[in-house]
Order: sequence, then structure tokens, then C-alpha cells
Amino acid sequence: MLNKLRIRADLHTHTVASTHAYSTVSEMAAAAAQTGLQLLGITDHGPGSPDSPHVWHFHNYKILPRIINGVYLLKGVEANIMDEFGTLDMDEYELSFCEWVIASYHTACVHFERTPELISQGYRKVCENPLVDVIGHPTTAMFPFDYEPVLKLFKEAGKLVEINESSLQWKQGALENAKTVYALCKKHEIPIILNTDAHFAGQVGKTPVAIRLLQDLDFPARLIVNLDAGRIMDMAEKKRGISFSTLQQSPFGIENE
Ligand SMILES: [Zn+2]
Ligand SMILES: [Zn+2]
Repeated sequence: MLNKLRIRADLHTHTVASTHAYSTVSEMAAAAAQTGLQLLGITDHGPGSPDSPHVWHFHNYKILPRIINGVYLLKGVEANIMDEFGTLDMDEYELSFCEWVIASYHTACVHFERTPELISQGYRKVCENPLVDVIGHPTTAMFPFDYEPVLKLFKEAGKLVEINESSLQWKQGALENAKTVYALCKKHEIPIILNTDAHFAGQVGKTPVAIRLLQDLDFPARLIVNLDAGRIMDMAEKKRGISFSTLQQSPFGIENE
């Protein structure tokens, strides 16, 4: 039953390193522990955003512990897709410091005509980048694309399609687009990841609007990968060799409440 489920890993959050967000890593981790998360992804904006941290923010991730307040940390980035060719604002070297990479379009970072053709072309190119894990908030009204073929391509390329609570709550038109996008994900069995995109600790782990939407669509729980933190850890372990070896095996299951 989807209404009894909640995410166990929140893999899209911002800290004070992006100054339009308001909580520290420690505050975010404390909130994550409080809401019962097992894994927290810190993903401040890549350097293409006007409000991003310096790249040294990412270079120095090694000093952050793997666990804070009993919550495992993945140290990542929300990279910007800068153009219609899928160019990211961080190259392979910069991304090598990150353990989790979201690729998102933001209006502040792009200067091409935002037609569905060109946005789709950009997304297709992003699919060729092996370092990208997630396509961020693909429901933004300012970035329409050819939903069905491109969503199918995301699946083929192994990119998780995000459902983003903040977008649904705050961005005009996102909720309407979301009905189309996640109905197509259901139709084509495309795995999704449900994130808050929290910019304040109080938002961490809370996804009421997205859960309601997924319920309305009768969306299969098995396609929502972060209902089980272990699935994300497996991905990070396989792809980047990150070790969560001290982690207990239970309670990871989505049945545990
Ligand atoms: Zn974003
Ligand atoms: Zn974000």
C-alpha cells in the first residue's frame, strides 16, 4: 500500500552552501534521523548556478563523515545542464569528487530557445554521460520535452527519473506535467526516485504531494527505488565503490515502518 510508505533515502537536498537554502549538513542529517531516513544525499548546486558553492566545496567532500547521527551520507551535486547539447557545468574531473550526480535544467543557466526538440536533444546527450545518476525534476513547465521517447531513453541509459516534492509544491505547472510524466513511467516500467529537494531541514524526508500523486496513479511501489535505502546503496557501491559495509541489513525493507 503506497499510503503506508515513505522514502528511506532522500537523495536531493541543499545546504547553506547554496545561499538560497537555510540549513547546515549537520542540521539536515539530524532532521533525516528524526524522520527515519537511513541515507541522505547532499546535492548542492553545480558551479553554473548563480548561487552555487565554489568547486572546492565538492573537492573537500572527503572530510565529511560517512555517517552523521546514524544516517549515512552520500556527497553529491545537482549539476546544471547548460545547453541543448547536454553539457554539464562540471567535467569528469570535477564530478569524480561526487558520489551522487543529479543533472537538472534551470532557467538561470541556459540561454537557448527552450523548445521540446532542443530540450529533448539535451536530455539525450545527458544519457550518454555515465557519471549522471538522476534526471532532476523533469516536470518543470519551463523545460517541456518529448516525454514518452525520452523517458524510455532514461530507463535504457540507467538514469533514474526524479519525482521532486519541491517542484510539485512550488513550481507552477509541475503538478500537471507530473501526471503525464509518471503515468508514462508506470506504463513503461521506468524506475523513479522520490526526493524532497529540501532547502531547509524541516523539509527533509517529507513528500506528501508526490505520494498523493503516485497514489492517484496507482504507481507500483517497486518502481520507486528509494523506498528502500539498500537499493541506492547497492547502486553507489557498484558504480563508485562506496562502502557501506558496517551497515546493518535491517530494517531496510519498505514494509518496516
Ligand atoms: Zn533543481
Ligand atoms: Zn535542487
